Amino acid sequence: MKMEDWTEGDWEAARAYVQKNSQTLTDGSGCRGWKLSLNDGYGTAHFAGVHLAHRFSLALKLGRSIPMGMQARHVWWCPNRHCVEESHLEEGTQKQNEGDKELAGKTVKGEKSHLTKYSDEKIQEVLELAKTETAEEVARKTGLSCGYVYELKRHGGRPNMKNKKKLQATENENRAGAKRKQRSRLSDEDVREIRRRLAQDSPPTKKSLAKLFNADASTITKISTRKSYAHVMDDEESQRVHDKQKTEEYIEETKERLQTFVTKEVRDVKQKEPCWTFNGGLISNRYGQFAYNGKPMGAHVVSWAIYKNDGKLPPKGMVIRHMCLKNPACSQPAHLELGDHAANGKDKITQGTVQREDSHYRSVIDQKMREQIENMLKSGKQLVDVALKTGLTYRTVRSAVMRWEKDRTKTHVVSVEAETE
Ligand SMILES: [Zn+2]
Ligand SMILES: [Zn+2]
Repeated sequence: MKMEDWTEGDWEAARAYVQKNSQTLTDGSGCRGWKLSLNDGYGTAHFAGVHLAHRFSLALKLGRSIPMGMQARHVWWCPNRHCVEESHLEEGTQKQNEGDKELAGKTVKGEKSHLTKYSDEKIQEVLELAKTETAEEVARKTGLSCGYVYELKRHGGRPNMKNKKKLQATENENRAGAKRKQRSRLSDEDVREIRRRLAQDSPPTKKSLAKLFNADASTITKISTRKSYAHVMDDEESQRVHDKQKTEEYIEETKERLQTFVTKEVRDVKQKEPCWTFNGGLISNRYGQFAYNGKPMGAHVVSWAIYKNDGKLPPKGMVIRHMCLKNPACSQPAHLELGDHAANGKDKITQGTVQREDSHYRSVIDQKMREQIENMLKSGKQLVDVALKTGLTYRTVRSAVMRWEKDRTKTHVVSVEAETE
């Protein structure tokens, strides 16, 4: 819903949202810092959509939305991009904004900029601590934000000071890795050719073969002793038959194994076939978790593959949809269909079971812990304190809180629409 259509209640709720998720900083700037996630230093607000927090705050101050082409800018003496203090915000054009940046010296990097809050020594201290302690603990000890500590750790210093040597080193490593990878794969045909050459009356040296086939000499030795690539048959036809048999056997085995994990039950009188509800471990309390070719997968995905697709998994970007109501643990092949994400989303809405994709926090934070966390936040505790207290990572707590906030604003908008009808 557009701001123009907001009721007085919406405006109030929005102001309360900004108030609640920001706090006055103690660095003497008079700024109100954003407490939720940041993007490139700017706060992100989730209220009736996604907004830049400072732009949103300015719109609330002005009592109207900011037209396209206009920018929300911080007054030049405000040093924090994530500041949402109304008196630090102005509407302006891009040109004015650039003028501001020059005035404030925002283009000066590193310690020289008077906006850099922390000295190089402080950064070093943080990096030292971070070697042995968690980001949450380091943040508490040094007074830096947890997000910044993560950034420092990730970049090995200030994010915009790219350490050339380090970059070069990783690049070299990647290249070496790519080379190794290249070497590790010989085609079946290559392996057969190597065997043929080794079987000649006067075989070439292993070293020369290694060079020729871009492999290690030890690999050639292992091929000759059949310690490696033993699965490659000497002729292609028998290879094909062998592979097919193996796949078929594995599919049959998997079908049998799946049967031991499902309970057949009629969930809906209209069903021709009963649901096969998975009774083993579930993923996110919803889908059955089942191993296939040594990898954990959704039981419904495996079921579709082995019963309806010759054992092949669905192509990338496609999902397996449930045709039965509200039973994601079902792996009855007749209830499963291949579809894309968009169709899957529609299904869920029409079935009235809107559920979001797996979010990692759901599996760690239960209702009781959620209440505990919300109470801590209400009493003014910061995310990093919550993280330390609960033993969760800062990121987990942050994404959980953001998701809850998003849920709340969504319900809010829905209820407003219901009232105005
Ligand atoms: Zn400010
Ligand atoms: Zn079913």
